[in-house]
Amino acid sequence: MKIEDNRNESDENEEIRLDSRFLRYQMQSAAKYILPHNRVGICLRHQIEQYGNVDIFKHRETQRAFYGGLMVCGSVWVCPVCASKISERRRQELKTAFKAHLDTGGHCTMVTLTFSHSARDKLDDLLIALGKSMQSFSRGKRHDIFRREIGLVGKIRAFEITYGANGWHPHIHLLLMHSIGIGDPWDWVDMEERLYGLWEGACAKNGFATSREHGLKLHDAAEASTYIGKWGDLMDKRWGTDSEMTKANIKKGRSGSMTPFDMLRAVIEDGDLEYEDKYREYAKATKGKQQLVWSPGLKAKYLIEEKTDEEVAAEKVEAADLLGQLHWQEWKHIIKNNLRYQLLKEIEKSGYESALIKIGIRKSPPKMMDS
Ligand SMILES: [Zn+2]
Repeated sequence: MKIEDNRNESDENEEIRLDSRFLRYQMQSAAKYILPHNRVGICLRHQIEQYGNVDIFKHRETQRAFYGGLMVCGSVWVCPVCASKISERRRQELKTAFKAHLDTGGHCTMVTLTFSHSARDKLDDLLIALGKSMQSFSRGKRHDIFRREIGLVGKIRAFEITYGANGWHPHIHLLLMHSIGIGDPWDWVDMEERLYGLWEGACAKNGFATSREHGLKLHDAAEASTYIGKWGDLMDKRWGTDSEMTKANIKKGRSGSMTPFDMLRAVIEDGDLEYEDKYREYAKATKGKQQLVWSPGLKAKYLIEEKTDEEVAAEKVEAADLLGQLHWQEWKHIIKNNLRYQLLKEIEKSGYESALIKIGIRKSPPKMMDS
């Protein structure tokens, strides 16, 4: 009996360790610790109303429990919990736009842009230079010719930041929606060459070098699914909740490239001071910057509502049932003992009432004599 119990417990631990929600809560706590004055510290901790109740809901479709009545920080850059929710929503928006564009005979091309950098460069400087180079790239006669040639309808720009042996590696993924196809392989090669020429000039103007090998890549995708897949991968990697989250991969990532959320894992697992500093630098450099930018009018064209990251992070769109409410003192106990994840997990496993008893915030009802 005892052995059986132990085995169950370790299975359960394994299950928890691999639960992406657990990882996100854990990483969010690490972000709170590293950034004591950042809003991430109040995210899903502070009640919206002081001394207000905390609602507990159950998602009808997934049967997952979640909290309501709590503040959220809405930061797609520093908060793994908000980033996950915001990215999911942005992915749906992209999917809607791609599909509508391709269904009307449109074409999509993705361009990845970066420049040379070294471990000595500060992220702040790199991001400013990348933004300026991007502006130079999209202006001027040569770009106008390119725009007309492909019948550019609109574009979506995403910033991605990783860290590796050569320091910070910020890059841009630019999604072009256009009405004229690029055509046969020769046109394709020619187009890439010309765009690289534009990019090289834009970087030089801002004091940066780039290389033909890494500076600019064109990615073709014949159908929307390939795109969504690519962008989905890109986003999953950012908050690191896919299979890459295993410890072995984090270790491997350190010699190759890591996402900022991988840094939080490194801090959690090894208490690595170097990554605390790096994460601070990253939070400061990305503050107020938009991760994903659609060109003007593009969202309206595909009837996609404009919503800020903060609005997306705060909204509750799922059909869900209210299971009950926790008194603010009960919530204080949950926060103090770091039980946010455990409570949700226990509710899903044994139901609302039993979970509160197991977690130790409510007492079990007195037993009937004849039961
Ligand atoms: Zn948050």
